[in-house]
Amino acid sequence: MATTVNHPHPNLPPSRGKGTQAHFDVLPGAKPRILTGIRPTGALHLGHYVGALKNWLDLQDTYECYFLIADYQALGDHFDDIELIRESVLDVTLDWLAVGLDPEKSAFVVQSYVPEHAELTMLLSFVTPLGMLERNPTLKSEIDSLPVESRTVGFYNYPMSQVADILLPRAHLVPVGEDQAPHIEMTREVARKFNRMFGRVFPEPGTLIGDVGRLVGTDGDAKMSKSKGNTIMLSDDADTVNQKVRGMFTDPNRIRADIPGRVEGNPVFEYHDAFNPDVGQVDEFKDRYRKGKVGDVEVKRALASALNEFLEPMRERRERYKADMPYVEEVLMDGVRRGRTIAEETMTRVRDAMRISSYTSSWS
Ligand code: ATP
Ligand code: MG
Repeated sequence: MATTVNHPHPNLPPSRGKGTQAHFDVLPGAKPRILTGIRPTGALHLGHYVGALKNWLDLQDTYECYFLIADYQALGDHFDDIELIRESVLDVTLDWLAVGLDPEKSAFVVQSYVPEHAELTMLLSFVTPLGMLERNPTLKSEIDSLPVESRTVGFYNYPMSQVADILLPRAHLVPVGEDQAPHIEMTREVARKFNRMFGRVFPEPGTLIGDVGRLVGTDGDAKMSKSKGNTIMLSDDADTVNQKVRGMFTDPNRIRADIPGRVEGNPVFEYHDAFNPDVGQVDEFKDRYRKGKVGDVEVKRALASALNEFLEPMRERRERYKADMPYVEEVLMDGVRRGRTIAEETMTRVRDAMRISSYTSSWS
């Protein structure tokens, strides 16, 4: 498995590489829990595959996974477009099924169907010093880039709600890209403080730093992002993929096919490396490209065909699931049931530990 872990639990593969040390106990034979998720603000693209889904597929057998469709969190910047969130809950579910996430193994949880997320966010906000949010550099730059009317308390508090998302299922591990490690550090600090004040309820989760990459956009931008319009969607049909690949940014200095071109930093080759399983073909293209012996058209045609081959089984599965909405609904309801079960268990422990919501029982 490409993922590296670093924690002491015997049920897990030996530790390799980076990751924060987690403190938790798991019953012998039980699988450690993982919480990760995505905000439903659109269908998913190849960047999501490279940066998240590919890694999640590997985790499903080793861990008890909760995959969260974080619709509360999507409200942060889409409060005025709830229709988009509604559509995206379905799109994300279909994309997850299409890439092969298995709802028998893992729970697909819609956040707002488990309102304990909101309750825990609120309760944890009382043990969390304001400075933790004020010092968060990511949050600060995100807030600064929002128009004044969109700078809501809810948005400001989203790191807190992420902390609650992780602690609600009492997750042991959170898979993250290296840049998100500080969010997990905040989770650990909040968990530690709560446990110290009220008794041990939460494991201190560790990070699973996976072998995740960042996929560049079709326009050569450092990141494929739906708001930048430089995506190839997992659900794009073959014609759309062909057209997008034809229009891809390559080496801007190469004005003719017979002059040497740059392979490094060239998105067409980055995609070949990520999605074309024919390594021999890719190496040959690189060699010829560097020597000015192959045109962009040929390299792009081969890329489009590799991408279509990669996406075709997903498209087929997506169509199949789309034609069976009762099944898709059952997947979500089952995931929500599993999410709720553990959430209710946690909240009972939290309320007991804090000695709230139980006043009348001590009166008689
Ligand atoms: P937006 O443009 O609205 O920010 P987005 O397309 O960047 O949307 P997000 O919802 O921000 O998508 O992405 C969710 C997660 O998916 C990210 O935190 C990251 O882990 C992963 N991800 C998204 N885009 C990429 C990418 N191009 N490369 C690698 N990972 C990505
Ligand atoms: Mg983004």
